[in-house]
Amino acid sequence: MSRVVEHLAELTGCRDRDLVDVTLVGALKDLLRPHAVGIYRCVGEPGAQHWLTRARLGPGDGTPVADPVWTPLDRLPPLAAQPDRLACWQRQRPLTVAGMPALAYFPLASDREPLGVLEIATRQPLALPEMRLVGSILRIYRNFAGLLDAGERDPLTGLLNRKTFDEYFLRTALREPAPADDAPAGDQARRGYTRGDPWLGLIDIDHFKRVNDTCGHLIGDEVLLLMARLMRSSFRFQDHLYRFGGEEFVVLMHCGSDVDAAAAFERLRANVAGYAFPQVGRITVSVGFTALRPGEAPTVAFDRADRAVYYAKQNGRNQVQSHAALVAAGLLAEADRGSDVELF
Ligand code: GH3
Ligand code: MG
Ligand code: MG
Repeated sequence: MSRVVEHLAELTGCRDRDLVDVTLVGALKDLLRPHAVGIYRCVGEPGAQHWLTRARLGPGDGTPVADPVWTPLDRLPPLAAQPDRLACWQRQRPLTVAGMPALAYFPLASDREPLGVLEIATRQPLALPEMRLVGSILRIYRNFAGLLDAGERDPLTGLLNRKTFDEYFLRTALREPAPADDAPAGDQARRGYTRGDPWLGLIDIDHFKRVNDTCGHLIGDEVLLLMARLMRSSFRFQDHLYRFGGEEFVVLMHCGSDVDAAAAFERLRANVAGYAFPQVGRITVSVGFTALRPGEAPTVAFDRADRAVYYAKQNGRNQVQSHAALVAAGLLAEADRGSDVELF
């Protein structure tokens, strides 16, 4: 019993989601001595989704292995490749499958959304007390995921909140990939695993005040919710999506070039412009984006994107502007004086 408590203490001491999953598979490996234990997440567009391994401990593994989050989707197994796992995911109920090894599947979820599937392979099928133990640990996992969400996410849209921006900024944009989930760099490049350079985009809804003034605040909130949904479906699952303030959103992404980044933001702009918002009709967004430079403070990159948004607002709205392209065309100065001051 004390071992269980120790593992739970370790799990709930994590402040990093990747670490929570790694800790969970480590705890279950120690408690159940399975052949293998893994956590898998369902990623990609509906209809063409794949399994991403979040953490897996096989027979010979000392530390859990994971798929790098930027692995191209076509290199991950499709959902249909694991029909039992898929059945658990779709039904959101535990599932056991007899055989050698015996398999047990448990859905992982937060209060907000399904998160993935826990898969445990054992020589003998799990006994009832073991199934109950896993169920209890997963209830704690769910409550804990809810607590992490409350600190990291905007309650209205479920997007990441501004408070987490700096931490994610540093982790995703500037820190080298963690060795645990990373192949050697040369090997990655050969297999097309490089995730590209980091980019920051700022998205501001056009004339949002009018929505509130003419339709009311509740409908305005509904628009923000739908905007978050359009963002989720327009960007890739690896991209970090934030609600930054009232009707301002930020995206941190990795891609190869200015052209690729422009195409991603243009996809969102077009999706928003083509969407009929209930009771409101058409809404548009102005977007400014910039490449992140190693070592710079988040505010400096944010300021560049903000000035590209300002340019878009001054020049007709409903458009995507690249800071670098505007500077190259002589339409914006490289930096205004204010952006030289590092605020933190
Ligand atoms: P522009 O095209 O220049 O961006 O015009 P705008 O009206 O969108 O810009 P402005 O920044 O003047 O107005 C933003 C408005 O967003 C003001 C406020 O009423 C509204 N807003 C901010 N937070 C919320 C929120 O949480 N819910 C709702 N419904 N409205 C919000
Ligand atoms: Mg604004
Ligand atoms: Mg606005």
